Amino acid sequence: MNPLHMNILVTGGAGFIGSHLCKKLIEGGDRVFCLDNLHTGSKENIANLIGSENFSFIEHDVIRPIAVRDSIDQIYNLACPASPFHYQKDPIQTIKTSVIGTINVLELAKEKGATVLQASTSEVYGDPHEHPQKETYFGNVNPIGPRACYDEGKRCAETLFFDYARSEGVKIRVVRIFNTYGPNMHPDDGRVVSNFIVRALKGESLTVYGDGSQTRSFQYIDDLVEGIVRMMNNRKDIVGPVNLGNPEEHTVKAIANIVLSLIPESKSGIAFGPFPPDDPMHRRPHISLAKKELGWEPKIPLEEGIKRTVEYFKMMI
Ligand code: NAD
Ligand code: UDP
Repeated sequence: MNPLHMNILVTGGAGFIGSHLCKKLIEGGDRVFCLDNLHTGSKENIANLIGSENFSFIEHDVIRPIAVRDSIDQIYNLACPASPFHYQKDPIQTIKTSVIGTINVLELAKEKGATVLQASTSEVYGDPHEHPQKETYFGNVNPIGPRACYDEGKRCAETLFFDYARSEGVKIRVVRIFNTYGPNMHPDDGRVVSNFIVRALKGESLTVYGDGSQTRSFQYIDDLVEGIVRMMNNRKDIVGPVNLGNPEEHTVKAIANIVLSLIPESKSGIAFGPFPPDDPMHRRPHISLAKKELGWEPKIPLEEGIKRTVEYFKMMI
């Protein structure tokens, strides 16, 4: 192994984003430790990596202290269910993952002298009053609603990161990820792009929650992973938070129509369901910080990304 290459721990490495990140790191020649409790992730996502001599899978819940014998240079902290359907199913487990799990990850980073990156989220902005959202915006989150286990857990995780940096000298990075989609999402993930594609392929109605006028900004997985790795390795020691997202904004109803137009053989139509409580009405990242400090911006157009994701789900279901 090239001695310049690193030992890297990825928590949540068997999930959607984590599996793509592990693959990129392995391809770059690093030694990767993928730690996951398989709550929403799966071994299928990392099946192509499990044989590699540079890849180890550790089945473990971050809520329990983490012990690794090897030296660790970098940690990407991705462990946490990300789909509203899954994180609301066991909200106490979700908040424990973000709070106790993050403390365990930061303690490991301190012990190993590793740089640690937190996968934070646009959800820290809640239902935003500032649009588009800059990193300086403090957000508008309902602390007692059904989304709070995730939103407040992630906000607390950011606080822990900055307190460990200030009090313990831990080297940190924080990215705020906006809605991301692509291959390796679970067919039952529950998030909008995978839901719409899976239903369109099965000939079932695409269910738009509310009237579909709420907006999101969707980035393709490859763009995100490039941004995360650039942030981790930035030479200017930018700690963040830095938004990573595609500033192109669409209504949910428009996404349903785009998906249907890209699967012309589908017999599906659009149905409407109840609007979930606290569902944010608008979401669009301001990405000037990522452009300036990381030289990063998304490159994959929405239709191209959705086409690639459709091909993946055609094989999966
Ligand atoms: P995912 O659900 O596919 O992956 C999460 C992974 O974490 C899964 O493999 C799951 O098994 C694992 N995990 C959950 N709880 C754990 C625990 N207690 N201990 C160990 N492992 C645990 O979701 P994803 O989309 O890949 O999200 C990855 C990270 O990125 C999450 O932290 C999420 O909050 C963040 N994020 C994702 C998005 C997005 O649009 N995908 C947006 C913002 C932030
Ligand atoms: N949504 C929808 N139908 C679905 C899944 C989601 O209309 O089958 C809506 C949801 O109410 C939200 C948006 O799509 O307004 C994005 O939801 P998702 O769960 O993907 O992510 P969020 O940004 O809410 O965390």
